[in-house]
Amino acid sequence: MVERSVTVTVPAKINLHLGVGPVRTDGYHDLATVFHAVDICDTVTASEMSGAAGGVKIQVTGEGAQFVPSDSRNLMAVAAELLAQHHGISPNVTMQVHKRIPVAGGMAGGSADAAGALIACDSLWQTHTPKAELDLLAAQLGSDVPFALHGGTAMGTGRGEILTPVISTGEFHWVIAFNDGGLSTPRVYSECDRLRAQSKSEVAFPTAIPTAIPTVPEALLQALRAGDPKKLAPELSNDLQIPAISLKPSLQRVLDTGVELGALAGIVSGSGPTCVFLTRDANHALDVAARLSGAGVCRTVRTAGGPVPGARVTHSGSN
Ligand code: ATP
Repeated sequence: MVERSVTVTVPAKINLHLGVGPVRTDGYHDLATVFHAVDICDTVTASEMSGAAGGVKIQVTGEGAQFVPSDSRNLMAVAAELLAQHHGISPNVTMQVHKRIPVAGGMAGGSADAAGALIACDSLWQTHTPKAELDLLAAQLGSDVPFALHGGTAMGTGRGEILTPVISTGEFHWVIAFNDGGLSTPRVYSECDRLRAQSKSEVAFPTAIPTAIPTVPEALLQALRAGDPKKLAPELSNDLQIPAISLKPSLQRVLDTGVELGALAGIVSGSGPTCVFLTRDANHALDVAARLSGAGVCRTVRTAGGPVPGARVTHSGSN
């Protein structure tokens, strides 16, 4: 039997700004976000064995694999089925992922794997799907999937799926703190709505229910254009940070510790519980990472650089 396989590398995202607007009639929130792809990457491999029974099989290894479904609920399976249906193909494929992106960590790991599966299967099946069609399929799979295809730094509006490139120069150096246990994204949005509803009365929450669609601050875009981490640091913000801390109060200590140990700024990544810290340069990132690791306030500490490209084929072959 001949096996053909295609391997795709796909990055995690962090949100440099996450403005959450009012709830829409479809239940989603209008967002104004700036996505930034960092070099913590999952590896997705699609392989096809000639003569094997049809269908989509899933194999998951690596960081948090035990928390990821290995059946048709896995977003790689959903993506492979969607692409097959789009081209009228009966899939016969095994999708493997080696996870490095923390599961339910607010870094869009599942979305990354869905984007990786689209690119891997498109190459394996030689379906040559035009970019615009891949974007539409990605948006059907989830709000963060189009960005995982594109990578780099980009503004996301709508529910995050409408992308506009952002000019950014140089490389930014981050320290990433993985924390125990995941946070469910829908739960964090619900907590945001709950706190906002209360903020009119007794609870001190900085943002009441917004009436307008949010926008990205110009100062953030200027800092990215300048490639200046010192200018970027005070512009990092996330409307889901207070709701995430409300559900997991230990995150406040992680954020405070990273800044006390010298990071320029720290924020919760997306819906959390991963926290990200901006540093001056690669050496400063290593220094902050070593100190944060020693402080024992989080599960694992990594350094990461960004921006990096989105899902891309890194190996293709037969044996
Ligand atoms: P979000 O994109 O909402 O920020 P997240 O990064 O916080 O999500 P994910 O790692 O995408 O979280 O996982 C969310 C849930 O999706 C997990 O609890 C898991 O059960 C499910 N899931 C399905 N497929 C995958 C996959 N390939 N990798 C990770 N999680 C997956």
